Amino acid sequence: MCGIFGACLNKEDANSNIPVLLTAESLSFYLQHRGQESAGIAYNHNGSIQVKKGLGLALQVFDDKFIQRSKSNFAIGHVRYGTTGGSSLANAQPQFKCEKYAVAVAHNGNLVNTNSLRSKLEAKGVNFSSTSDTEIIAVLIAKSQKPTLEEAIIESCKQIKGSYSLIILSNDQIFGVRDPLGIRPLMLGKINYNNVETYMLSSEDCAFTNLGGVKIRDIAPGELIEIRPSSIRSSTISNSCSEKLCIFEYVYFSRPDSNLLGRSIYGVRKKMGIELAKEIGNINIDSIIGIPDSGLPAAIGFSEKSEIPLNYGLIKNRYVGRTFISPINRASQVQRKLSPLVEEIKNKKIGIVDDSIVRGTTTKKIVKMLRDYGAREIHLLIASPPVIGPCFFGIDTADEMELIAHKLKNNVSSIRNFIGSDSLHYLSLQGLARAISLPTDNFCMACFNRHYPIKVSLKSKNALA
Ligand code: 5GP
Ligand code: MG
Repeated sequence: MCGIFGACLNKEDANSNIPVLLTAESLSFYLQHRGQESAGIAYNHNGSIQVKKGLGLALQVFDDKFIQRSKSNFAIGHVRYGTTGGSSLANAQPQFKCEKYAVAVAHNGNLVNTNSLRSKLEAKGVNFSSTSDTEIIAVLIAKSQKPTLEEAIIESCKQIKGSYSLIILSNDQIFGVRDPLGIRPLMLGKINYNNVETYMLSSEDCAFTNLGGVKIRDIAPGELIEIRPSSIRSSTISNSCSEKLCIFEYVYFSRPDSNLLGRSIYGVRKKMGIELAKEIGNINIDSIIGIPDSGLPAAIGFSEKSEIPLNYGLIKNRYVGRTFISPINRASQVQRKLSPLVEEIKNKKIGIVDDSIVRGTTTKKIVKMLRDYGAREIHLLIASPPVIGPCFFGIDTADEMELIAHKLKNNVSSIRNFIGSDSLHYLSLQGLARAISLPTDNFCMACFNRHYPIKVSLKSKNALA
């Protein structure tokens, strides 16, 4: 999972820094949660594509000076959470290539035929400078011999397999593409900024609304949208498209102030808590505590439905990143991240609500910490089903043996035993579907049911490990 953003003025003004400014703002403040390994922006100044990339947070990579001097009709940007390839600067995006076509590519998703495409291209003499799957996409487009860039993009998309939402910048325009299954989100928005109308593409609409703009619509699965100063046009990359949006966007990835398929993320998460409370029925606990931040909306829903008071029992330190997106030592980060409030924990029977358990390592540490602080009973209330399937489409869980629910054969009492809580309850998949209240056919739920919308061979699994 990564965050991507693009902006294009609705009329030519090569001396404007609005596209770069909007992109830097979005990456720094509204999409940063989607990846913290690296950040990058590409823009076009006087017919030449410039790329600025760096490791770490967007605010560390883009400063005022860069924004002031970066003038362009359009810009695209990326924050990275690596799946294929390590967290080096070479793997940072956008990836720039200049052959028949000059393009910069920002990609959210993960390809599953990386190895075979890479070998084919290497046999043709291509030297790759990174290990990322995105460089392959940029090479395919740049080297295509098709007469137009649009055709070059379509030809390249036909060769890649997996999940991809792309924003592509060239000398004349930006493009947005969603893979034929629409696994990762991408949407179109608009803003009137300093009296200049600008179109935007983003992984999440919280960027549009917080900047002061509006969402126009979701980009459809398989849609290719071209935005130039003063024109916007839509076509399609495939004849067989069907929506299989990643359900984990609702569970964890997207910000609560975003909306997907007409559903507010906050609203869905709150309903996940309500559905969980309905499924559990009577439970003898004194107090509900949500694990900040991702567990809080479900905790509110659980408390509302169960009529058990909600309390503030864990304080999140604002000055450390999310734990498992960041590639550095997870164990010590957990202790820094959450501080318990003794008076809300000591001698109490507490219900701890979180959105999900993936590896189980963080949750186990939180439970131990609450015991050390004197909790009488700890009941774990998880607002999604057990994560039993590895993800090959953009979540960093390609090794199934990392998944605690898979490792312990989906046996809830063994998982409870591992985590060390007094009880453990998961929301059912039907309960999750009720919370979203859209047909389950619209979603990839492979992490919960191992039904993969694209066949994944063992070879590509190993490629991701
Ligand atoms: P675990 O106990 O599995 O180590 O951690 C569970 C926590 O990880 C939950 O609070 C959940 O919000 C969070 N989480 C779930 N999926 C992801 C993910 O893909 N990346 C990150 N950073 N955190 C996740
Ligand atoms: Mg969390």
